[in-house]
Amino acid sequence: MTSALLPTYARAPIAFERGEGAWLVTHDGERYLDFGAGIAVNALGHAHPHLVEALTTQAQKLWHTSNLFEIPEGERLGRRLVDATFADVAFFANSGAEANEAAIKMARKYHAAGGHPERFRIITFEGAFHGRTLATIAAGGQQKYIDGFGPKVDGFDQVPFGDHDALVAAIGPETAALMIEPIQGEGGIRTVPTEMLRGLRALCDEHGLLLIMDEVQTGVGRTGRLFAHEWAGVTPDIMSAAKGIGGGFPLGVCLATAEAARGMTAGSHGTTFGGNPLAMAVGNAVLDVVLADGFLDHVLRMGLLLKQRLGAVIDRHPGVITEIRGTGLILGLKLDVPNTAFTAAARDERLLVIPAGDNVVRLLPPLIVSEADVAEAVERLDATAGRLGSQMRGAAE
Ligand SMILES: *Cc1c(COP(=O)(O)O)cnc(C)c1O
Repeated sequence: MTSALLPTYARAPIAFERGEGAWLVTHDGERYLDFGAGIAVNALGHAHPHLVEALTTQAQKLWHTSNLFEIPEGERLGRRLVDATFADVAFFANSGAEANEAAIKMARKYHAAGGHPERFRIITFEGAFHGRTLATIAAGGQQKYIDGFGPKVDGFDQVPFGDHDALVAAIGPETAALMIEPIQGEGGIRTVPTEMLRGLRALCDEHGLLLIMDEVQTGVGRTGRLFAHEWAGVTPDIMSAAKGIGGGFPLGVCLATAEAARGMTAGSHGTTFGGNPLAMAVGNAVLDVVLADGFLDHVLRMGLLLKQRLGAVIDRHPGVITEIRGTGLILGLKLDVPNTAFTAAARDERLLVIPAGDNVVRLLPPLIVSEADVAEAVERLDATAGRLGSQMRGAAE
């Protein structure tokens, strides 16, 4: 039977009935090791007892009231996020793209409030991904997402990744901000070197620009720090986060300094659903776990273990996997075989991984992954690479 859903996704032919920790179970009872975590969303794995408890308790009290009223759970989550980061204020949304829309609008309004409404352009980087709304596809700059949807939203200038001269040349009298992912996720786990992030901060300060970091994929503990930019010792003026922040409940946030947010006065932006009591209860529960003593150390330890064991897999299959990228539990395997073939072969080994740009597959396990889960994933990756390697040798003979 044909599907009633708009065919915008190339879905794998499996459906899951339930999950526990890092494992997903199909209707037939087949168990898959989930090293994709719903694209870095299920930060605490599936059916985490603390999240289930927070969601069900809140569900029996109150789901939604709208932002016409005070939402104490949101005040609390905002305060905790602000206390844990560079930021002074938080705006809650329902997705990464919406968090980025808030960031983009805020950067433009900052300059308008300062008497420079002509400064609205934002410089972004090749390979970027910022979402699928009209503004965020223009920001991401990928032709395949822009084509056919009418005139590209104006105000985004893209420069090659890592080309300092091109970046300096792109800064003009209309430039408002730079926007960057500390590690490009969809782009293929391409890490922005620490020196480059520091250079971007210096350029912003020199030219009066705002630095926007898109930590939708890298945030909420994924790299072993609460946010990836902390590794570079550089802070943004505005930051978006989403994916892991709700542990599977749709939630995004735009965090900013008071200065960067100076233009966002009452009535300047809004959302019906954003920050509703149900989302806030779950967001607070995710933070309870991620901010607990030792949690980020666990992420780092599992990341190191995974990376180290993967080194041995590469040594055994150099014709299949050529490089490991990333930090903590956002890792990428650069491949010599098509990443779609690798993803399908891994699925045959009952392991879920996620393709990305630059012919990479991403490993994004839940942050609660255990040593045994890591060992199991490495075995399955080894089997996947072995299977593809022998297919390739077969084809070459
Ligand atoms: C996934 C992602 C987005 C878009 O988030 P949605 O929730 O799909 O709107 C934006 N930026 C980055 C870096 C992402 O990884």
